[in-house]
Amino acid sequence: MNMDIFFQGLFIVSVIALIVSFFLDEPISLKRIHKNLEELGIKPLKKGERSKYKLTIKGAKGEQVIYPLNQDAFYFTVAHFAPDCEAFAEYMLELWCLTPFNLILTTDLGETKNTETLGLWQWNGKHTISICTHDVEKEVLALILLHEIAHLRIHTLTNYAYAYNLAGKRIKSPYYGMNVKPHGPQFASVFAEISRPTLDMKNLYSNKQKRHLTNYFQSPKKVHLTPLTKCGNIPVY
Ligand SMILES: [Zn+2]
Repeated sequence: MNMDIFFQGLFIVSVIALIVSFFLDEPISLKRIHKNLEELGIKPLKKGERSKYKLTIKGAKGEQVIYPLNQDAFYFTVAHFAPDCEAFAEYMLELWCLTPFNLILTTDLGETKNTETLGLWQWNGKHTISICTHDVEKEVLALILLHEIAHLRIHTLTNYAYAYNLAGKRIKSPYYGMNVKPHGPQFASVFAEISRPTLDMKNLYSNKQKRHLTNYFQSPKKVHLTPLTKCGNIPVY
């Protein structure tokens, strides 16, 4: 047997395997979300049609489809972030009902010198959370969403004298009137409070991630944000 041909064959096979695994690893399929919404009878907004909250899905070529965002649309979209963990989608829906926000899923959120932006929280009278779905592991996607909801919650707790706690009870906002740093100790503590319930969820994190996150959320003030890079790159902005 001619070894050259043998190795050439091997090379082609491994390239194909690489391509296949690339598609198998595709973290979240936007196409599948569109299909799922269609099955649910949730249609994109027509020109001029209004909706209090919106779900925007941007494709790789910049094309975008905007859906009205209600509880159903939110739940079934977020369910794609952690398909094996119903509890996660249920919990995210609870948080969304507490303070609703627009949701943007995009394959590109831009990048800075050192990091790719994977999540973004914005406020312009309404909250908007953008999530980069490209090349992101599912467990990390869940963390990005939690991270951005923590930004939203910090905004609520610094801007309103009274807010609702996670159990739905009206409380005095602990950080009211304070000018807190985007990723300072108050943020870390809110991020931990929001994320702690997810540690008991089955099929959400790998065991390694769970161990790491448990330590992280036990003393968020000490460890801040850096250790989360071990769970994949967590956005800084
Ligand atoms: Zn952030």
